[in-house]
Amino acid sequence: MTLIERFLNYVSYETTATEEKEDAASNPLIYNLSKQMMRELQALNPNELSINQFGVVDAKFYGDPSKPAIAFLAHMDTSNQASGKDVKPQIIKNYDGKDIKLNEELTLSAKQFPTLLHSIGHCIICTSGDTLLGGDDKAGMAIIMTALSDILEGKKNHRPLEIIFTTDEEIGADAHHVSMESVFAKYGYTVDGGDYRYISTESFTAYSMQVKVVGKSIHPGSAKDKLVNAAGVLMKFHNALPEVLRPEETSEHEPFYHLCNIQGSEDSATGDYIIRSFDEDQMKELINLAKLTARRINDHTGYEAITLEIKEQYHNMKVVLDKYPEIQKEMEDVYNKLGMEFHYEAIRGGTTGSQLSFMGLPCPNLGTGDYNMHGRYEYVDYDEMEAMVNVVKELMIA
Ligand SMILES: [Zn+2]
Repeated sequence: MTLIERFLNYVSYETTATEEKEDAASNPLIYNLSKQMMRELQALNPNELSINQFGVVDAKFYGDPSKPAIAFLAHMDTSNQASGKDVKPQIIKNYDGKDIKLNEELTLSAKQFPTLLHSIGHCIICTSGDTLLGGDDKAGMAIIMTALSDILEGKKNHRPLEIIFTTDEEIGADAHHVSMESVFAKYGYTVDGGDYRYISTESFTAYSMQVKVVGKSIHPGSAKDKLVNAAGVLMKFHNALPEVLRPEETSEHEPFYHLCNIQGSEDSATGDYIIRSFDEDQMKELINLAKLTARRINDHTGYEAITLEIKEQYHNMKVVLDKYPEIQKEMEDVYNKLGMEFHYEAIRGGTTGSQLSFMGLPCPNLGTGDYNMHGRYEYVDYDEMEAMVNVVKELMIA
């Protein structure tokens, strides 16, 4: 099978992640792709092959024991922000930079998406306008499988290799679905990025914060000096947080507080926030500022009107990856050997690697050539996918 055959096959599976389940993959349809991957990996004669209750597939190929075992990871599920049912990819060979009519309603245009300008002369695979494409992360899966089968069928000497296809990445559950006790790799690469020139060794450190307000509800006619309006207190809290630290005001290495959901009445109110920063000390300051804000408002109200529930979500993988300079060197050597340009990018989000790095499997992230993820404008630059097959092959034999 070729790279394109694999990719078109994987995107034909509907694998939309839905609601997280405790003991199974979120969507039973995901197992159909897990089984397909079991069949494909089995055909390559692995030394070990397993699938767990979450549909996570893990294959091990013992190689040169003098070298450290390395893992490659991609996720099989797709985002639920757009339908992933009956994906009908359109293949545009030798893209000329002009508008691509996806369907009657949608047009993919380089004016709106300037990244397309990098793809002139390349082969592009886009959607038919009704669904997402699923290149996130089936492009990663196709890249890994193609590199792996090239290496094994070419009988090349390779390092001990572990291939892990995960489930429910899009709902943040995939790292917990991996059976870490059976992982034999010393470190790994998630192949789950966009632009193929970007390598990510940094992600956010992430906390969630739920703000609960209990009001004192009194008939408005006799409310003077008595009513404490919970919804109003929540608005006060929100407005007291720095306006410049909101996602719409920040970029690059800047942190934010993001209000994702709000519900309330005069009686009670709840605000759900996420807090993000690249720096652990800065994160502590952000949390302290939120606590101080709540305390001041409570002082003014005269009772514990606001309570905060702050929960750790994941951490910047850089903290772990900095301890393994050899991983960075190995990546740079491969890109240089292939004469490929590369840049480091701090991901304003989390990756599977942000969690796995702290669970004992340090994992930077590599690009796949997938763009406009999670929506109907998604497309892959097939030439970039081909280039990434070479990167992964080199890493497999490095
Ligand atoms: Zn992804």
